[in-house]
Amino acid sequence: MKLKPLSWDNLKFGQVYTDHMMEVDWNQSKGWSKPLISPLHNFDIHPGAKVLHYAIELFEGMKAFRGVDNKIRLFRPEKNIERMKRSAIRATLPDFDAEELIKLISNTIEIDKEWVPYSDTGFLYIRPTMIGTDPTIGVAVSTQAKLFVLLNPVGTSTGFQPVSLLADPEYVRAFSGGVGAYKMGCNYAPTLLVGKIAHKMGCHQALWLYDTDEKLTEASAMNIFVYWKNENGEEELVTPPLEDGLILPGVTRDSILVLAREWNEFKISERYPTMEEIQRSLKEKRMLQMFCTGTASGIVPVNRIVYKNKKTKECENLLLPTMESRSNLVKRFYDTILDIQVITCSQWVVTLNPRNIF
Ligand SMILES: *Cc1c(COP(=O)(O)O)cnc(C)c1O
Repeated sequence: MKLKPLSWDNLKFGQVYTDHMMEVDWNQSKGWSKPLISPLHNFDIHPGAKVLHYAIELFEGMKAFRGVDNKIRLFRPEKNIERMKRSAIRATLPDFDAEELIKLISNTIEIDKEWVPYSDTGFLYIRPTMIGTDPTIGVAVSTQAKLFVLLNPVGTSTGFQPVSLLADPEYVRAFSGGVGAYKMGCNYAPTLLVGKIAHKMGCHQALWLYDTDEKLTEASAMNIFVYWKNENGEEELVTPPLEDGLILPGVTRDSILVLAREWNEFKISERYPTMEEIQRSLKEKRMLQMFCTGTASGIVPVNRIVYKNKKTKECENLLLPTMESRSNLVKRFYDTILDIQVITCSQWVVTLNPRNIF
């Protein structure tokens, strides 16, 4: 048993693991084997395993919280597991029972429950993963797979620290007919170089544009929202739509849309804002706030976009308002969701109730 860290606040995202993990193997002839929760360990994997060659892989990212009543709860776990099942089908990895996996995750957390941070904004990050382990090197569907779950305590969410984004239309994250809507590992490796270029340009992350009209789609591995006065003078919250398959259907994205519709205080549109519209809204001082959302990063305001103009090759520095005191929507969403997660515990949270499955 490892010692728990002395300070929760120093725990950076994804660097520290809890003591235990869960794993379960599958093969085409026998189906799923007995799940195993055991101390965190390395895998013994054949170098020909398909995941190592063709990235037959998918993952999820979800959170558990310690409530003010000291009970541990999962946030909308069924949404993540549903999405994981969709990724599995797209990746030709095996389907599984959603409830059974939530139970297994709950049991693993129960064993490591002292790792769920006691700090105000800390959480336990849960990483379910599935890989194709078939040790034959042909490009083909894997006849063997492993599903496993890792747990990372995270001290404080960095949410709220504004980020700057590089918008270079030369790069795309996802495309029509591709797999951008699925959390498959193959979507992320190609983004790292663009992230590196963004850093070189003095930005935190990439803003993904699409097509000749330069639609805004996502930022890094986060969904995006634009809150502005639209051209008709209406207050409007805009986020890109899911139906084209370019956008990862974020659980945070969905939560924000549900809350905003409940509040019913401004127009809500699921459509793509374009770079041209962003520039115009800034010029005409209609932009209120732009922000990014994701389980790992929370709700993050955008304070600057470095936009590389395709025609002139020049970079334009666009400054965005972040703390519009009149209506700090970012903070309101952040506070409301955190309140649901640790205090009021509405219908979106599931209290850990591990059943004895062994
Ligand atoms: C995971 C992810 C998101 C955010 O989804 P959440 O369910 O809110 O965590 C957004 N975009 C991409 C590309 C992602 O991988």
